[in-house]
Parts: sequence; C-alpha cells; structure tokens
Amino acid sequence: MKGFFHLSEVQKAAPPGLIAKCGSCGLYRGCHTPKMKPYGKGDRVLVVGEAPGETEDEKGRPFIGKAGQFLRETLGRIKVDLDRDALTTNALICRPPGNKTPEPKQIDYCRPNLMTVIRKVQPEVIITLGRSALASVLEPFWRDDLGPMEKWAGWAIPLPEHWVCPTYHPSYLLRSHNSLLDRAFEAHLETAFGLEEKPPAQPNYLEQVEVLLDEKDIYQAIRKMDEEGGWVAVDYETNCLKPDYAKAQIVSCALSNGRRTISYPWWGKAITATGMFLKSKRTRKIASNVKFEERWSLQEFGRGVENWGWDTMLAAHCLDNRPGICSIKFQSFIHLGLASYNENIEPYLKNQKGSLYNRIQEIELGTLLRYGGLDALLEHKLAAFQRERMGYED
Ligand code: URA
Repeated sequence: MKGFFHLSEVQKAAPPGLIAKCGSCGLYRGCHTPKMKPYGKGDRVLVVGEAPGETEDEKGRPFIGKAGQFLRETLGRIKVDLDRDALTTNALICRPPGNKTPEPKQIDYCRPNLMTVIRKVQPEVIITLGRSALASVLEPFWRDDLGPMEKWAGWAIPLPEHWVCPTYHPSYLLRSHNSLLDRAFEAHLETAFGLEEKPPAQPNYLEQVEVLLDEKDIYQAIRKMDEEGGWVAVDYETNCLKPDYAKAQIVSCALSNGRRTISYPWWGKAITATGMFLKSKRTRKIASNVKFEERWSLQEFGRGVENWGWDTMLAAHCLDNRPGICSIKFQSFIHLGLASYNENIEPYLKNQKGSLYNRIQEIELGTLLRYGGLDALLEHKLAAFQRERMGYED
C-alpha cells in the first residue's frame, strides 16, 4: 500500500488534463445569465451558495431572490450588508433547470471556477451555505462522505489559507419554519463575520512523530515520559476491535505528552515498559474512547490503567452533543484544520467483510507507526483544547 497524505500534498491542484473545461456540464445552454460572475465589494468574506435561482438568473446577480432576501435580512440584524461586506458566488455558476439540487459531478465540473475566485480574492473567511457549497469547498480537504449538514453547521474550520464556516442554506431554512435553526443561522453568520484574521498557521504534526524500533530506545523513552509526569495520550493500533477474540493482537502503541510523541511496535521490552507506564500514577492518561485502551490493557496486562484523566470523545460530546462529530479525525479537522490524513490506511483498519479482523498487518510498519503516533499527538492537542474550553486550569 501507499503511504499517507499530508496537508501540503492534498492541496495540490489536479493535473491540468484532469480538469473538465467550464461548460462540460452543459448547464450554460439553458441559462439567461450563464457563468454568473461573483458579486459584491467585500473581499474579506466570501459567501458561497448552491446555484443561481430563477430571479438570480434573470437579473444576473446572486442572492436577490427569496432565499437571498432571507439571508440579507438575517445579516441586517447583525449589521452586515451582503453586497458591501462580502463577495458572493455559488458552487454552480449556471442555474440548473428547475433549480434542481446540483449533482456531485456538476459540482466537480464547476469547482475550478470557485477555486479561481478563492485564489484571486484570497478571502480570510469562506461561508458555505448548504451542502453543495460545503462539498465544493471541502473536497480537497475532507474526502469522506460529508454526512448530514447538521454535523457541519456552525464550526469555524481553520484551513491553512482561510476559515471555512459552514451553515445552512437559506432556502432550507425558509422551507423548515424552525425558529431555532433560524437563530442558529444568525449566530453562525455572526461568528463568521466576526473572525478577524486568517487562521493561525498549524505545525506539521506528522514531523513531530518519532518512530522507534529499537527496544532499548523505546524502553528509555517510555521511562522518561513516565518520570516527567503530566498528561500523556495513549493510543493502540490493533488487529480487531475487541481484545476477546481468539487472534486479537495489539500491533503498535503510541504515547504523546505534547512535547514528544513516540510510536513503536508491540514487541519485547516495549511491552514491559508500556505495562509499567500504564500502572504508574505519575502521568495522567488521555485516550480517544478510553474504554478501548482500557479493555485492551486489561487483557494484555491483567489490570487496568492507572490515572485515566481525559477522554477526547466524551469531552467532544459534552461540548457539543450532535451525533457523528466525536472522532479524533473529525475533531482534528474542525479544530486544527488537519485534512484527511489517514485515508490510505483507513480501509485496512476496518473489519473485513465477514471477518472479525482488519488488515492491519498489510500496512507498511513505518506508515502504521506514523499514523498511530499522529493520533496520539492529536489526542493530546485536542484534550488541551477541550480542557481550556471547559475552563479547567491544568
Ligand atoms: N441560492 C443560492 O444558493 N445562490 C443564489 O445565488 C441564490 C439563491
């Protein structure tokens, strides 16, 4: 299998020959205003909708029909003028007949138009209204299925060049007649327009992971981490979900105290040192879904882990109880802007059809260890972020 991507790689543009030429979708043929230009005087905030509607197509300007009016009224309440304070465009720049929801292929065809606007204007904030806009903007960064819109609405995602602030499409709100959603929409827009600068630069987390193979090095590194105390994230990679299965095995382990992240195979003295580390009370342990590491440790060492202090999944759920948002991957994306980093190895970590086991043994060891280490480091970062949000002082 291939190694996995880092942010800088996923952002590369597709090779020229692979980009469909504007017009390939054919939509321009049925439009009054084909290939609608972006509109507005603002260049700090870019608002991206789905596609021009009937009124927009007739008059040649985005967001002047009913949904546009609703958006403008909502913005008016927070003292924002759409045309003065933002630039507007759409995931599709030609009106689809009958205002049909854009097909994924149409969004793909039209994405280069949106990317050109983003490249030229370099907005600090991109507000995406609805799924089509979100799918268009996030495609280079988030390769999984987007899932429901509810899971995205309201975050300010710190991508390298700009914030992405997803919210609902005003047409959906007009159809829903739900005052709670309307209030959330206003709050999302207020947050987005209130962002004052570009997102802070993120370090290359992957570079911070130390892959250790030598038993003595691993042993010493673990002992030192224990002696130093503080918070340490613990992350196992295993060949199945439950330690009770006959061939269940831990394959590797990673520990991160934020300053140092080590990732090592599960062998020899590394196992002994990890056992000692887990029963020591000197460090406070972090995991993403504590019960997973706890059950595997119980099985392996015949005793539980001392001093669990934080579960990033549980904390994510306490901070926001929407379904589908607690995984380390989603949390790292929305809070740290870390793009899909494990898509190449993820399929190997899922159970094979009809089997209790995954295909972890097929992953090249270095890749597996880097991925495991990155998870532990991100868990440590997220735990610190969550503790701060929840008002804890250490
Ligand atoms: N809805 C959109 O998504 N875009 C427009 O331009 C108008 C309505």
